[in-house]
Amino acid sequence: VTGSAGSGPRPGPADPPVAALGEDGLVASVVARFPGGPGLLVGPGDDAAVLAGAGPVVVSTDTLVEGHDFRQEWSSAYDVGVKTAAQNFADIAAMGGRPTALLVSLALPAGLPGSWAVGLADGLADECARAGAVMAGGDVSEAAEIVVTGTALGSLAGAPVLRSGAGAGDVVALAGVVGPSAAGWALLAAASAGSAPTDAVPTDAVPTDAVLTDPVLADLVDAHRRPAPPYPAGPRAALAGATAMIDTSDGLLRDAARIAAASGVTLDLSRTALTPGADLVAAARVLGVDPLDWVLTGGEDHALLACFPPTVALPPGFRVIGRVLAGAGEVLVDGAPRPGSAGWTHF
Ligand SMILES: [Mg+2]
Repeated sequence: VTGSAGSGPRPGPADPPVAALGEDGLVASVVARFPGGPGLLVGPGDDAAVLAGAGPVVVSTDTLVEGHDFRQEWSSAYDVGVKTAAQNFADIAAMGGRPTALLVSLALPAGLPGSWAVGLADGLADECARAGAVMAGGDVSEAAEIVVTGTALGSLAGAPVLRSGAGAGDVVALAGVVGPSAAGWALLAAASAGSAPTDAVPTDAVPTDAVLTDPVLADLVDAHRRPAPPYPAGPRAALAGATAMIDTSDGLLRDAARIAAASGVTLDLSRTALTPGADLVAAARVLGVDPLDWVLTGGEDHALLACFPPTVALPPGFRVIGRVLAGAGEVLVDGAPRPGSAGWTHF
């Protein structure tokens, strides 16, 4: 056995490690989980896939690294599969695109149980189905830690929605949720005292059971493990005339600042419109923190943040959370900068 299989499941006689399956065996067990679908003219198994389609193709890629982007003790293989597909497809939706296909490059420790790869494949397949896309293919290799890289493809009905088109007078609108993923992460961190940063939350405050048994808190943990981006809202926003759009991968304020910078405008968000929901309030009470921080700076929910001309009827799923002002790339809350606000950064 080489490499690290983390603290997840161990290989056994009925579940041999990926090294025992061999590359062809591993690929076969994974590919068997992908049903194919319309538009996939040649699926996994040849040198490359062949997709039907015409017109511009939206492409994006995103990587999940064990220990950095997920932990085996917090996320199942299925969860990692869903998350890989979700964060890739959210970028397609954020351009106004409709997800069509996903490619996944997988590097696994040789000692990881083969069932982990199959669980991952099931998560990928299910999220592809939810997004209306197909698993088109991928690659496997060996590494000390699990590394999952997804590349998503999508189609466009019209022009792509960039980050740079917002103008003064536009409304700022949001589809999907902001905060639950960060709250779920904080609950997991608190519940596994000793294995998480202890300055963020009081780790002695929450017995693991509180997270596992309270359905509201468990839903937040699930939101962290398996984000559910509102994919159809992306193409709908494009069709309705959205002037700028982004998915909230790194936190509402940070991602809003990207629109503000790219468009050369200021986004003024409404504190009232961002009032934390009852689930976030309940979790914050358990952990002794301010739930508004999750709403404003929590990443990985992959909601869609978009700007629309004020005359436009917002498409289903969007609600107004602010307005666009003339000015220099700032994000405000009720007209004032929020001190010390920052979202997730990779470095
Ligand atoms: Mg994005």
